[in-house]
Amino acid sequence: MLDFSEMMLQERQLLSSESSELAGKLRVIAGEQGVSASPVDRLATCRDYWPMGSLWFLEGKAPALPDLVVWPADTAQVAAVLALAGEHGVPVTPYGEGSGALGGAIPLRGGIVLDLKRMNQVRELDGENLMVTVECGLNGALYEEHLNRRGFTGGHIPQSIRCSTVGGWLACRAAGQFSSRYGKIEDMVVALEAVLPDGTVFSGRRVPRTATGPRLDHLFIGSEGALGVITAATLRIWPCPEERSLLSFAFAGLEEGLEAARLIIRAGARPAVVRLYDYAETGHHFPEVKEAGGRCMLILLIEGDRRLAAAETQMAREAALAHGGVDTGCGPVEHWLERRFNISLASKLFRQGAVVDTIEVSSTWTGAAPLYRAMQEAMLAVEGTALASGHYSHVYPEGAALYMTLCGFPPGEKADYYKRIWSAAMETCLSLGGAISHHHGIGLHRGLWMEQEHGGAGLEALRRVKQALDPGAIMNPGKLGLEEALEWRK
Ligand SMILES: Cc1cc2nc3c(=O)[nH]c(=O)nc-3n(C[C@H](O)[C@H](O)[C@H](O)COP(=O)(O)OP(=O)(O)OC[C@H]3O[C@@H](n4cnc5c(N)ncnc54)[C@H](O)[C@@H]3O)c2cc1C
Repeated sequence: MLDFSEMMLQERQLLSSESSELAGKLRVIAGEQGVSASPVDRLATCRDYWPMGSLWFLEGKAPALPDLVVWPADTAQVAAVLALAGEHGVPVTPYGEGSGALGGAIPLRGGIVLDLKRMNQVRELDGENLMVTVECGLNGALYEEHLNRRGFTGGHIPQSIRCSTVGGWLACRAAGQFSSRYGKIEDMVVALEAVLPDGTVFSGRRVPRTATGPRLDHLFIGSEGALGVITAATLRIWPCPEERSLLSFAFAGLEEGLEAARLIIRAGARPAVVRLYDYAETGHHFPEVKEAGGRCMLILLIEGDRRLAAAETQMAREAALAHGGVDTGCGPVEHWLERRFNISLASKLFRQGAVVDTIEVSSTWTGAAPLYRAMQEAMLAVEGTALASGHYSHVYPEGAALYMTLCGFPPGEKADYYKRIWSAAMETCLSLGGAISHHHGIGLHRGLWMEQEHGGAGLEALRRVKQALDPGAIMNPGKLGLEEALEWRK
């Protein structure tokens, strides 16, 4: 019988008298239906997709429960909730769809979870100027569908598109599968509307570019709920592509595939999808492609204007063949397109007692292959690790993202193993000059390495920004490495 009475990371909770008094005031703001103290709602918003949270949940333990869940209907309600929380010194944790991978949405100190899903309106679609303004709680798949029906694409297709929000993408600096052409989410931002912790609402200007000093709204990109709440965003959009071409090549090794990808991007071609798999992942994803056996598969998807796509296709093909790539046709890309949202294997492995996770980092082209080899070696050296495989995706003129997948059957405590394998991966990444995250963000767990990532002075400066905007420290406490999480240390 799972009773969820054990909370693994909870640092504080309100007294029940405090919670009832606060609930009454919140109902005046968000209405009777907009506030809940019920156990089921508190459980539903107490975690995200961070594997430790899921592992505890399967054992009937919660990471940490909020005291109250609030569903604001608009920006004014968000502002009023934050102002009230500030007066009472109550923590507020913004919540999109809880697909974050690092524990960012766990309400470590209880208080209010601000679930933003009711804020899901498309405010304005400006086809002439290729911009759309939407509210933060809009589901990713509904966002893209809304645009597609009108002849546009948002160009942001993360694997979690069906279970994440636009606000969550911005808060975490997300990357979609088509990022090599359309950019990461930060490349798509025209302007943001946000609410500061004291309830002040501000909006960035919806103009193409500015040279008007630092952009306060852009400071909220990657802020992970620690500086305030992103309530709406104006993002770039594109006309739906006229042409799409699918190519794949099998290479003798990762180095050859990386070199082909580097030269394609260096020449100015911008395939939307560039994915290069190591031997293990090539074998797992493409067992039916005979020529890929014992090789590393590169898949490319090029789209856009017909003439540009034709030129880019030719450039990509020439670079791949020049580096020994064996042409394996469009089949592998079609296979990837069909399966790209499927994560059922990870769910099965969790239930069989495995610890499964993914770790995405980024590096320059020079460091790309050494980083993969060193991270794989360090992760496999941790007792209990059964698999540490990887692929590259999200490529830039200066480098690429490396996405490692791990699976372990730990001999002892799962949390100990989890910390050990992450330490091995993060320390190796840092020692070889990689960035500790490319797109999943920091949340709770990666905060353990924020000082090494930013340097002492850099992290201290970020802490001062936080202190200036949120002097009462109500916004998502214990995250982004801005302060220590008392129950989750190295
Ligand atoms: C199966 C799977 C696949 C994934 N694939 C990808 C992928 O392809 N690319 C990628 O980048 N990520 C991916 N992720 C990670 C995750 O989907 C992203 O981090 C996503 O951006 C989180 O969105 P969300 O709405 O679920 O946010 P949540 O998980 O609810 O919140 C994430 C963080 O943002 C804060 N937050 C949420 N909304 C707001 C807001 N409006 N204002 C301020 N702070 C806010 C929260 O407090 C929390 O700290 C994947 C996750 C899963 C489980």
